[in-house]
Amino acid sequence: MKLHELFQTGKTVFSCEVFPPKKTSPVDSIYKTLDGLKDIQPDFISVTFGAGGSQVNQTTREIAAIIQNQYHIPAMAHLTCVAAGREEVDGLLAGLKADGVENVLALRGDVNPSVPPKTDFLHANELVSYIRSTSDFGVSAACYPEGHLESPDLVSDIRYLKAKVDAGAQHLVSQLFFDNEDFFRFLERCRIAGITVPIEAGIMPVLSASSIQRMVSLCGASLPRKLTRLLGRYGDHPQALREAGIAYAIDQISDLIAGGVDGIHLYTMNNPDVARQIAGSLSSIRSL
Ligand code: FAD
Repeated sequence: MKLHELFQTGKTVFSCEVFPPKKTSPVDSIYKTLDGLKDIQPDFISVTFGAGGSQVNQTTREIAAIIQNQYHIPAMAHLTCVAAGREEVDGLLAGLKADGVENVLALRGDVNPSVPPKTDFLHANELVSYIRSTSDFGVSAACYPEGHLESPDLVSDIRYLKAKVDAGAQHLVSQLFFDNEDFFRFLERCRIAGITVPIEAGIMPVLSASSIQRMVSLCGASLPRKLTRLLGRYGDHPQALREAGIAYAIDQISDLIAGGVDGIHLYTMNNPDVARQIAGSLSSIRSL
């Protein structure tokens, strides 16, 4: 199944992201995560693509295949082109196809200042166009409600996003954000710009002060006052912050669904208990 078809039912799509286990853990440790996520019946699960070379990314492929073939949940494999030329992309796509994985998230990836990027695909729109014209994968792409870090302004970011959709991206998944108003404003700008494909909202529950500070510095998401208050009050009390962070994510998601969002993409951080708690609190809302 191609993921964009999921949005034709009119129901809010609910999906999850996992990442391959660290090099020191066996790939089998992903089963624990997937066993937990299976219970919440996500519409699809995506698997991130590491910056650590082809060996690491065979793991992305292996996990996507496990999700697709053993859990019978549609899988989306992330694929970045900043360190991959056409030949490597062809190899990764051939492997995914052989494994029955039908969907990819086509990304440029972050440029590492000390490693010159490959030049076959300079931006994600070129990768999207290449995959659409040479294969029958369902192709999704990333978007940034507060603008991408490298982008001088939201107007040019949305112009390039439109080019990515015109190149063939059939569905967009957003960067994490903590203020729904940022997302709703972004959505409106996209629709005005003629971007009509489904756009899923990326939600990451705040579980620890250090991890959220790291994520925010990596992706540039802003912290609204409501959230900095929680971090200030509960930052030194891990269990209290975890409860408050889960409640915050549930509040964000129920508001997004009330606002008619196409889908919710939960950054699970391979933590199925948190995903289960969030999904459990939203069961009636999700079934609307
Ligand atoms: P692009 O769409 O190429 O955009 C990058 C920048 O260039 C933007 O500022 C954009 O405005 C600008 N731009 C776009 N097109 C053009 C153009 N034609 N000409 C000039 N400028 C242009 N990273 C990983 O390494 N692995 C992952 O698994 C991963 N998963 C992600 C999942 C999601 C949902 C998101 C939101 C991000 C993910 N990332 C991942 C991070 C992503 O790789 C980085 O944000 C990266 O810097 C940009 O990738 P992109 O595909 O959005 O790039």
